[in-house]
Amino acid sequence: MLHRETVDRVELVFTDRDGGLSDGPWASLNLGTSNGDDPGLVLLNLARLADEIGVDRLVRMTQVHGADVVWTDEVAADEIPQVDALLTDQPGVGLLVRVADCVPIVLVGLDQPMAGVVHCGREGLIKGVVPAAVAALRERGAESLRAWVGPRACGQCYELPEQMADTVAAIVPSARSTTSWGTPAVDIGAGVLAQLHALGVTATDLGAGLCTIEDERFFSYRRQGQDSGRFGAVVVVR
Ligand SMILES: [Zn+2]
Repeated sequence: MLHRETVDRVELVFTDRDGGLSDGPWASLNLGTSNGDDPGLVLLNLARLADEIGVDRLVRMTQVHGADVVWTDEVAADEIPQVDALLTDQPGVGLLVRVADCVPIVLVGLDQPMAGVVHCGREGLIKGVVPAAVAALRERGAESLRAWVGPRACGQCYELPEQMADTVAAIVPSARSTTSWGTPAVDIGAGVLAQLHALGVTATDLGAGLCTIEDERFFSYRRQGQDSGRFGAVVVVR
């Protein structure tokens, strides 16, 4: 586990690769269900994570690189919604975001017991999934929000074709970056932090100085390819 913290009535956790049952490229706490790992082991990994955090229900999402947001009271008990942001004001419901190079974000309401998780990659940055989640939480009454931003591919590794990097930079200028070998790149984490800052949300960057591509403590799609596992973050309102 990378990080665990309690803020008022909300508890949040960021995982790394440790503590699961999967083998090989998925070793060991793979939380992803569509990357070639044994589905039975992934379910055990998810159950282990839910147990460790002390929740009966862990709501996960099929992430589609969009900007749709859903509240858990709109999600059926066995449903896995196709969204990139999950929000809750229901006590005891764990929310899971899964990543391998994209940015995992946890949002916490300080004046209202509310929380959310967001998955943001290059497309999410362009489409504004983080601003959409912040807006939805504020609409339901969370005026004071804090964010935790997790490990992701760093701006010196996340190479993109120049046109793609420029498309991102046209929307979030501070996300434009250059690889350590001098080619166009995007710093998605910097982009997310800029979007949060612009919305007045204080952020704790747990991924500062870390890079999922460079650091084998994390799963990385760029480093491991199709067989990459997924790590992530969970948040729960008590
Ligand atoms: Zn890097």
